[in-house]
Amino acid sequence: MSQPIIRIDNIVKRYGPLTVLDGLSMEVMPGEKLALIGPSGSGKTTILRILMTLETISDGFIQVDGEQLYHMKKAGSLVPADERHLHKMREKIGMVFQHFNLFPHKCVLDNVTLAPMLTKGMARAQAEKRAMELLDMVGLADKAKSMPAQLSGGQKQRVAIARALALSPKIMLFDEVTSALDPELVEEVLNVMRKLASETDMTMLLVTHEMGFAHDFADRVLFFDRGKIVEEGKPEDIFRHPKQERTQTFLRKII
Ligand code: ADP
Repeated sequence: MSQPIIRIDNIVKRYGPLTVLDGLSMEVMPGEKLALIGPSGSGKTTILRILMTLETISDGFIQVDGEQLYHMKKAGSLVPADERHLHKMREKIGMVFQHFNLFPHKCVLDNVTLAPMLTKGMARAQAEKRAMELLDMVGLADKAKSMPAQLSGGQKQRVAIARALALSPKIMLFDEVTSALDPELVEEVLNVMRKLASETDMTMLLVTHEMGFAHDFADRVLFFDRGKIVEEGKPEDIFRHPKQERTQTFLRKII
C-alpha cells in the first residue's frame, strides 16, 4: 500500500479575525484525481495556494511527497521553511490559475521554457524540445511564436497548462481554470485536462464549478463548506446520493 503524496493534518488558516480553514485534514494518494467543490468562500482555493506555498498556515501539519512543507519551531509555532526548501517543494507542484497569468511580453514558447531554464538550469535546446512536445499535447504547437495577446482565452489557458507541466511536477493543481472563459472555449481546456488525467499518472486536484466535469474527471469529490470538508466520496455518491443536507442544498442550487 503506497503512502499518501499529500497529507494535510488539522490545518488552520486565519486572515486576521477570519478563520478560513478550521482544523482541516485530508490525504491524497499518488495518481488520485480529486475535485474540490463547494460554495464560494469555503476555502477551496486557499488550500491550493497553501500547497503551492503562496500562503502559509496558522497551525497544523502538511506533508508533500514525504517531506514537510513547513518546519516546526521548538515552541510549537510554525515557521516557513527556508527558500531552498520551498524552491524544492515548488518543483513538485504545478498550478494553473483562473486568470492564466502568462508573461505578456514573452512569446508562447518562452512562457513554457522560462521556468525550466531558470529554476532547473535546463539548456535552451532541451527546454524548447520539451516545450514543443507539451505545446503539441495541448494542441498549440503552431502558436509557439505567438504572443499571449494574440491568443483566445482557451488557448492562453492551454499554454498555462503546458507551462505548469514543463517542470514535470508530480502534482497538478487547477483553480477554476475555466471560469474566466467564454462558454464556447471551456470544452477545449477540459479536453486537455481529460487527456492529462487519462494519459498520465499525475496527482491532480481540481477546484471547479463544472459539476459535470468533476463527475467524469474525479476519483473522489470533496464538498467544502465554511472551511471544513462536510462530505466526501465517489462522484456518483456525492452527486446522486449526497448524505449531508448542506451538500444537497448546494447541489440543488448549482445543478
Ligand atoms: P473558495 O475558493 O472556496 O471560493 P477561498 O479559499 O478563495 O474560497 O476564500 C476563503 C475565504 O478566505 C473567503 O472568505 C475569502 O474572502 C478569504 N480570503 C482569501 N484570501 C484572502 C486574503 N488574502 N485576505 C483576507 N481574506 C482572504
